[in-house]
Amino acid sequence: MKKIVLSRFSKEALIDYIISTGEKKFRAEQIFSWIWAKNASSFDDMTDVKKEFRAFLNENCTILDSKIKMRQISKDGTIKYLIEFSDGNCAETVLMRFDNRSNLSMCVSSQVGCKMGCKFCATGKNGFKRNLLAYEIVSQILHAQIDTGLKITNVVFMGQGEPLDNFENVVEALKLINKNLQISIRRITVSTCGIVPKILELSNTDLLPTLAISLHAPNHTLRSEVMPIEKKYDINTLYDALKIYNKLTKDRITIEYILIGGFNDSLENANELIKYLKNIKCNINLIPYNPIKGDKFKKPERNNMLRFKYLLEASGKKVTIRLERGADIDAACGQLAGKLNK
Ligand code: SAH
Ligand code: SF4
Repeated sequence: MKKIVLSRFSKEALIDYIISTGEKKFRAEQIFSWIWAKNASSFDDMTDVKKEFRAFLNENCTILDSKIKMRQISKDGTIKYLIEFSDGNCAETVLMRFDNRSNLSMCVSSQVGCKMGCKFCATGKNGFKRNLLAYEIVSQILHAQIDTGLKITNVVFMGQGEPLDNFENVVEALKLINKNLQISIRRITVSTCGIVPKILELSNTDLLPTLAISLHAPNHTLRSEVMPIEKKYDINTLYDALKIYNKLTKDRITIEYILIGGFNDSLENANELIKYLKNIKCNINLIPYNPIKGDKFKKPERNNMLRFKYLLEASGKKVTIRLERGADIDAACGQLAGKLNK
């Protein structure tokens, strides 16, 4: 018999289930708190739950049905986990420590592989395997919390996969992260390559996460060269969606822009980007291109990177250059390829 995975449940559903076994509501509340607030890794950790019921739980239930298959720790403290799900598929998740003193950010995967085929990204290179279910997305955070004993404060959907191509599960995961893990929705960022109808659908849900857009080019021609999605929803259609999202949240949108040497890092490119973003409330995150095996792109020169940053800042935007984290363990942006996949 397949065990019931308790981390799949909302609080209400967990209460219903525990009551259906003949136990009281307070028992469900204890278990809920062990799973979501106290990083329990097994039912035996749940010391205030009576022994007989722990035995019942051990027999019929499990907290998680995935496991940490591999763990790598970078020189800079970043930890990359390879999580193996119950069907043997794997995806990475990355814990970024030391962002600043109080933040502990988790970068989660939403799919095994990705269908979007961006030219600069390692994730899509092995094709697409499947969507992750909501609880499988959230399990990545639980594993890291159990492993480190720390409480995650921020979540970014910037691991493997295109979150808005797995819309229902991602929206469900946002609820679990917000309600069960008690992480404020403003501390959750969903990053997308720009699936416009799904951005609009997201803007109609109750929980509006911070939106990050993988823009990566300042015009249609350049963007279509590296991002197939541009042919379906072009940069002008995307613009309209950004304006709508802007109206609905106080938070600024994050614009992600990979600087690729000699491709999109010129003075002209910067000025075009400034024009495009002029009336969008956003912060800009410049990501120096991380080389992927076997592709033709180059890292940007430091000088060009600083010029690009300066020009955007002079236009009034807040700009950060994304620190390269965990590059020594292939945990940096675009390097997640789900090694060891079946
Ligand atoms: N699919 C979503 C989220 C995951 S990708 C998206 O594309 O937004 C996380 C970020 O890493 C995206 O901004 C992505 O474009 C970027 N990225 C991909 N490959 C990269 C590379 N080789 N160097 C630097 N950043 C990369
Ligand atoms: Fe998919 Fe994002 Fe990589 Fe593009 S950048 S292939 S959307 S994971």
